[in-house]
Amino acid sequence: MTCLLCDRVELLRRNEYPYLIKEFEHSYLLLGEHQFYRGYCVLVTKDHYREMTDVPSPKREGVFAEMMRSSEAIQRVFTPKKMNLCSLGNVVEHIHWHFFPRYGDDPDFKRPPWLQMDRFDGAKVTPEERDRLVAMVKQVLE
Ligand SMILES: [Zn+2]
Repeated sequence: MTCLLCDRVELLRRNEYPYLIKEFEHSYLLLGEHQFYRGYCVLVTKDHYREMTDVPSPKREGVFAEMMRSSEAIQRVFTPKKMNLCSLGNVVEHIHWHFFPRYGDDPDFKRPPWLQMDRFDGAKVTPEERDRLVAMVKQVLE
């Protein structure tokens, strides 16, 4: 079985993925590799599940609590006008949640962030900026 996010979890376990913000009991909070929306982060479950409904209780509630903690931290650091959280998994069938902070001046504020996805690669974060943003969110979670 090849799963891009299982591979990433393996890198995280070996401490070889520098976008790590926080290791929770059931998931990892990662800074997004692009920052088209400043503060964009992703939460990835440690174990491979296709749907949130596949996660047994009480782990499911644990993942939700970790999502909420993550969202609160991102909101505190970046003070967006609105948070967009979404979990799709049509491309990578391993539960992950996207956190898109949205700002009043961002393109098409009232429309889904995915409409800008062709521009994401143009906003790759530099290693210096990555380390700075990771530290900012991490500090709030400690
Ligand atoms: Zn997986």
